[in-house]
This record gives sequence, structure tokens and C-alpha cells, in this order.
Amino acid sequence: MKPLGPIPAGFATLDGELAIGGHKASDLVAQAGQTPLFVYSQERIAARVAELRAALPAQVALNYAVKANPYGPVLQVMTGLVDGFDIASGGELAMVTAAGIDPARVSFAGPGKRDAELEAAIAAGVTLNLESEGEAERALAIAARLGTVPRLAVRVNPDFDLKGSGMKMGGGAKPFGVDAERVPALVRHLIAAGADWRGFHIFAGSQALDAAAIAETQAQTIALAARLAAEAGTVPPKVNLGGGFGIPYFPGDVPLDLAAVGQALGEQLAQLPPELAGTAFCIELGRYLVGESGVYLTRIIDRKISHGEVYLVTDGGLHHQLAASGNFGTVVRRNYPAAIASRFDAPVEEEANVVGCLCTPLDRLADKGGFPLV
Ligand SMILES: *Cc1c(COP(=O)(O)O)cnc(C)c1O
Repeated sequence: MKPLGPIPAGFATLDGELAIGGHKASDLVAQAGQTPLFVYSQERIAARVAELRAALPAQVALNYAVKANPYGPVLQVMTGLVDGFDIASGGELAMVTAAGIDPARVSFAGPGKRDAELEAAIAAGVTLNLESEGEAERALAIAARLGTVPRLAVRVNPDFDLKGSGMKMGGGAKPFGVDAERVPALVRHLIAAGADWRGFHIFAGSQALDAAAIAETQAQTIALAARLAAEAGTVPPKVNLGGGFGIPYFPGDVPLDLAAVGQALGEQLAQLPPELAGTAFCIELGRYLVGESGVYLTRIIDRKISHGEVYLVTDGGLHHQLAASGNFGTVVRRNYPAAIASRFDAPVEEEANVVGCLCTPLDRLADKGGFPLV
């Protein structure tokens, strides 16, 4: 038997079934009318934001990285909970606009922004986190044509990465941001061109569970921002410190020590260098805000045996849950959290493989997990 990932806190049992926000899984399926479905708990999202607010220094603004879950009702819930929104495409710009979010609260990062996406963002008053000098020139030209002053920040490719992170977004050659040593010249150019320079965006990695590594990266990020500000000869209005707070996916993963991260950041901000006097700070989080608030419910369509192994065949799969299938960024496949929702508190009775409905051996949701009988 292979272990399953840890079920996040906050999911209860009601009449033997998994309950989400006080609703039994079977009732949620009946309400949706079909399977599969995603269910998100507004309570869990609000609880997570409250934990963050309690742990982080009060002067640090909290942004939601929309790509973690751009579902309209989730954005609506976030509107009242977080300070800003980070988007990564023109499609996400349309989603935040549809959710009624003020574009002044939105910043737009991501390599490969098309001219039409730059134009829509500039026209709306969204801050662009520029990924290159070439993108800066296109943004300035579009703003000139529109007759607007663009809000432009520079995404920095830092000369360090977030240690222990699942995905490294900095350190060495990267498609993200502008190499640190070229940033001061670009900042001076943006200001000379009449742009509303908004500051720096420095995102060094994702999915880190180690508080000490996050604290070290935040200290390096602040030091780098100060150095770049000194070289550019101007105080950045804002520094986006990135995020990278991870959540447990796999057996043995231990939740991030949020209090330790908050305390270290508080100490950093209490002794800011003069180059950052008056700078506002924010962090941007995606999965940490929403990843443990949702459940993917699929129906077991068939239970079959092949060469002695049990296969629970569901009506879902990797087309909805690519990461859980092991086909997104993992080298060795391990099991995500998975459970039989209709018998949530029942003991383990058999070993089974949970698979999706696609005709590919890649479509697996759990390998040799221990489950109650269905
Ligand atoms: C993906 C991404 C995020 C969110 O990452 P999480 O690890 O989910 O918090 C934040 N900022 C940028 C620039 C990203 O690309």
C-alpha cells in the first residue's frame, strides 16, 4: 500500500460522509445535478486569510494570485478579504473585471503578454509587472498611442532562488523578469519616459514548506530591492515580495510554520534600509489562500479487478486534476490527498487504484491507496 497525502484541516464527517462547509457530499452532488464537481468552502478561505492577517506584519498587504483559482464566486469572496489581485493573462483580467474588482488593485505579471493584453491592462489602469525591456518598449508605445500614463513595475529576476521550493522562479537564467543588474537602467528609462513607476516585483519560487527558507528569501528580496533602489536613485513606491508559501500535498509534508515567517518578516521590516523608507510592501499568494479550501468530487463508475489489483474508475481525471495525476512538475509520482467521500470515517479495508476516465495510463488519481470498501 502507498500512503495518501494528508487531508487538510476543516473537513468534517456528517452521517458517515465527507462534509464541506456543513454540507454532505451527497447533498452537494444532488444540488449540482451531476458529477464531477469542484466545491470550495468560503469559510475555509476566510479562515486562512484570518490566519495570515494574524501572523503577518500589519503593514504588509496581501494579494491573491488569481491563477490559483479564477472561479468567479471565489474572486467575489476574495474581494472582501485581500488587498490586491495578481493576474497572469488577459483572460484573468476579464475575470477580475467581471467580478467587479477595481483595476487599481490589480497587477499583471507573466512572460509573453500580447499587445492586446497590454493594451487592455493599460487602458484599465492595471499595473504591469514588466518581464523584459522589450515588453517595456511595447507598453510605453501602447500607452503613448492611448494617451495614458501607464502604471509600470519591473519584475526582477533575482540572483537567488527560494530554497526547498517546488518551483524555482529565480536564480540564474530564467524567462521571468529582468536580470537584476539591468533593472536600475530600465527604471531610470521608465521614469524618463513619463511612466508612473510602481516599484519592484521579486518572486523567487513557489510551494515552499520551510519557514526558514522563506524568511531567508524575504531578507534577500528586501536587500536586493534596496540595492536596486540605490542604483536607480529613487525609492520604489511598492515592493512585491513574492510569496511561495506552500501547502502539504504528499504524505509526510508538514504545514508551513506561518508564525515563524511572520515574525521574521516583522523583524526585517523593522530595520529597513533608508533606500526603502516610505516603500509599501505586499506578498502575493495563490495556493496557500485557496488550495486547502476545495474538494474535487467524482463518482466511482466502475470497480474492476485486473491481475488481482482493484481499480476504482471515476468520471473525473487528469483533465481536471493534472497535478494530482502526477503529470505536472513532479519527477516521482506520489499520492495527493484522496478519500471515499461517502464513507469518509470508515476504516481502510482494501488497497485500490483510483483512475480517471481517459484512455491513457497517465490518468491516475491515487496509486495503491488504502480505502474503505465501496
Ligand atoms: C504562480 C504565481 C504566484 C502564485 O504562486 P503560489 O505558489 O500558488 O502562491 C504568485 N506570483 C506569481 C508571479 C506567479 O507566477
